[in-house]
Amino acid sequence: MNIIQDFIPAGRRNRPARANPMNFITIHETGNTSRGAGARNHANYLKGDAAAGLPVSWHYTTDDREIYQHLPENEDAFHAGDGGGNGNRQSIGIEICVNSDGDFQKAIDRTVELVAEICRRRSIPIENIRQHNSWSGKNCPQNIRAGRPHTWEVFIDKVRANLTPAPTQPAEPARTVTLDILGKVQDVRGFIENGETFVRLTEYSAALGFAATWDGDRRLPVIRKEGDATAPTVAAVTDDEKRLLQIITHWEARGESEKGQILVVNVIRNRVAAAGFPDTINDVVYAPNAFTPTKRADFDEAQPNARTIAAVDKALSGEDYSQGATFFHSISGIRQAEAEGRKVWHEQAADEGRLIRLFDEGNHRFYKGVQ
Ligand SMILES: [Zn+2]
Repeated sequence: MNIIQDFIPAGRRNRPARANPMNFITIHETGNTSRGAGARNHANYLKGDAAAGLPVSWHYTTDDREIYQHLPENEDAFHAGDGGGNGNRQSIGIEICVNSDGDFQKAIDRTVELVAEICRRRSIPIENIRQHNSWSGKNCPQNIRAGRPHTWEVFIDKVRANLTPAPTQPAEPARTVTLDILGKVQDVRGFIENGETFVRLTEYSAALGFAATWDGDRRLPVIRKEGDATAPTVAAVTDDEKRLLQIITHWEARGESEKGQILVVNVIRNRVAAAGFPDTINDVVYAPNAFTPTKRADFDEAQPNARTIAAVDKALSGEDYSQGATFFHSISGIRQAEAEGRKVWHEQAADEGRLIRLFDEGNHRFYKGVQ
């Protein structure tokens, strides 16, 4: 089981870090049907100020593709709505994603495997797998409680089936998959899971003449031409472009963290690379209605400080937290609009499925277009 650990930083208000005796497992659904509201988005949410302010936290989020772990299991969290009760203090909280662009049944099945694995490892009896509802009366996990796509009893049966050792059967043999790649026929190792054939990214890439490695910092596979494995893909920028990036980062994010500043540059460069946007840094920054600070009379006179200059340098050397974001909006602006009973374009577009909300960082919310 591939679990991505992305912990809420120590010291945050939603990471109380009291000892959790791990006597129970609590099952939730996120209730967030927005497109893109998968496990990674929730990991980002839990690390942000909004979640710390509530405070809210749990241990794992599962979607149809990934499992994110946000806290060590042996720490308590705020998910059960029972104050200092056994839900918050003695259980491991798991949220199942219900994003409308995900496969809910797959997310459940992934959760079943995770729950069974935790039960085995922590010797938690099956009757101590609880619904959020059992602690606070909240209607959660809402779909499962309503029998969608199946009942809680079926969920528990599935966990039980996962706990029972399977009758010994020979492992599915690794099989060779023959690929015709650009006219060159190649054999790579394949394996079969749930009736689908998979090939390893590393071997598939090698057959294509690329090298695949794992970038642990950015948590993504990196594919490069062989022999060029470490060369960054970052295209060179001119001194003028660099100066422009420093200026726009100054105006857009001078009060933000280093990461928040790097993200501004990431978004601009993502736009340069994306279809539907101009192809140069200059044209992206000065595009009409793109970056409001460009309208300032004193735009060019900005004096970016050393911190901003360093952040731009880091972004240009390949530091990228953007998850492909091509839009951002100030959260204060979003709230202001909401207070006035309207929505900023970005939020409206996200509600309508034209943008995907990715994460919040500082006072900025990041989005990307729907492919
Ligand atoms: Zn819940």
